[in-house]
Amino acid sequence: MTTATVVGGGPNGLTAAVALARAGVQVTVLEAADEIGGGARTREALLPGLLHDQCSAVHPMAVGSRFLAELGLERFGLSWRTPEIDCVHPIDGGRAGVLHRSVADTAAGLGSDGSAWRALFDRPAAHYDALAEDIMRPLLHLPRHPLTLARFGMPTVLPASTLARIFRTRQGRALFGGIAAHTFRPLHYPMTSAIGLGIITAGHRHGWPVAAGGSQSITDALAALLAELGGKIETGARVEALAQLPVADVTMFDLAPDAVAGIMGEQLPRRIANAYQRFRQGPGAFKVDFAIADGVPWTNPEARRAGTVHVVGDYAELAAAERDIHAGRMPERPFVLVGQQYLADPQRSFGNVHPLWTYAHVPNGYDGDATAAIIAQIERFAPGFQERVIGSTVRSATQMAAYNPNYVGGDIMTGAKDIRQLVFGPRITLSPYSIGVPGMYICSAATPPGPGAHGMCGANAAAAALDQLSR
Ligand SMILES: Cc1cc2nc3c(=O)[nH]c(=O)nc-3n(C[C@H](O)[C@H](O)[C@H](O)COP(=O)(O)OP(=O)(O)OC[C@H]3O[C@@H](n4cnc5c(N)ncnc54)[C@H](O)[C@@H]3O)c2cc1C
Repeated sequence: MTTATVVGGGPNGLTAAVALARAGVQVTVLEAADEIGGGARTREALLPGLLHDQCSAVHPMAVGSRFLAELGLERFGLSWRTPEIDCVHPIDGGRAGVLHRSVADTAAGLGSDGSAWRALFDRPAAHYDALAEDIMRPLLHLPRHPLTLARFGMPTVLPASTLARIFRTRQGRALFGGIAAHTFRPLHYPMTSAIGLGIITAGHRHGWPVAAGGSQSITDALAALLAELGGKIETGARVEALAQLPVADVTMFDLAPDAVAGIMGEQLPRRIANAYQRFRQGPGAFKVDFAIADGVPWTNPEARRAGTVHVVGDYAELAAAERDIHAGRMPERPFVLVGQQYLADPQRSFGNVHPLWTYAHVPNGYDGDATAAIIAQIERFAPGFQERVIGSTVRSATQMAAYNPNYVGGDIMTGAKDIRQLVFGPRITLSPYSIGVPGMYICSAATPPGPGAHGMCGANAAAAALDQLSR
């Protein structure tokens, strides 16, 4: 029987494992931590009954993944909950840019910027499912829908700062900029529009949902399906050297490139080892989870109904903060992302006490404390916030890397998303999943289509492995 070992039980490792097991391969997953899940774990961090997502929270790409949908994960408890409003970006004075699931509703709320929003998103949102077949694969391939891809692709090459200029209102610019900033790059750099355009378009088609019961439900469902298919998972099994790995027809690494190079040692072809050593990390994330009574008292009323709130102020402040973290400086007013998953999924709360998920963009390896800066930013748009905080727990950028070695220096994107790494992955090649050793692959978020709990890096890597096996 054909055998496979998958190192790392994050969304990509588990999706790769499921894809291989469905093809009849005998799969074993080796996970370093005591529980599976990687960036899709949820736990009671502060009070009994209060469920906090440890990493990923909001899933516009996962809900739109045809591959995940085909697996029928609802049989194993996965269901999606969509908030009333997807995302709000408040600016001073109580106003805000508001992202609704519908392009028309979003445009209506943006006033004079409505027509620009519609021009950018009407068409790609209507064709998102076809588009996803092309953008959730390595970018360099023969497109299935060339026209749709070309139309969508043109603005993605622009710096977000250039594209933001089509919006004239402060809230239109801030809304677009805040979502583009998910790329963790200075917004005047080329192609910094790409990730934002992808997330907004996916959201206009499928919303920005959370997983009922927490993001862990995604990886738990994948693990349950894997077990049904005869796959095995060993937790507490950190792999540090090739000698630890059982002999298998396929070995799949759900790891950062430098970890793959470390494990492979001299067995990795020199040119690939060099490329993995040159792999660049992006800035880091500093995470604070709060237990909060009665929710956040946002000045903007729509923010009280939104799953995600982007907190930094207007576009200029956002751009300055992102420039700073890229240059290794901690800004006084960082970009803070706030998740109110409990609004769509009330089972995460305990009575009137709610779990609030926040993280700030910080420099890679930042070892200071950003808690006060996060609180001050939220307080700025929600006076009285601090008085409602019952408890909090912190995971700094350096602790993030200790929690999961894939997040080097706290880089939750598993590598900087500069043009080279966004287009090609960890090295310049048409086979981004191959590590140059027959039967061995990398499938983490360092590979295309990149970060997110959508599992598509794993699905694509498994398809490459199965294709190779069939020859
Ligand atoms: C704070 C934060 C917020 C995020 N928000 C979102 C969001 O809202 N939406 C979204 O889609 N994405 C989000 N992400 C990103 C998302 O979580 C990741 O892109 C995704 O989890 C990547 O999946 P992966 O399988 O490639 O790697 P990971 O999820 O990192 O999994 C890798 C696994 O490998 C294990 N491992 C590492 N080294 C070894 C070893 N040597 N031996 C064995 N096992 C090992 C790790 O323990 C881990 O379980 C967020 C991430 C963080 C940290």
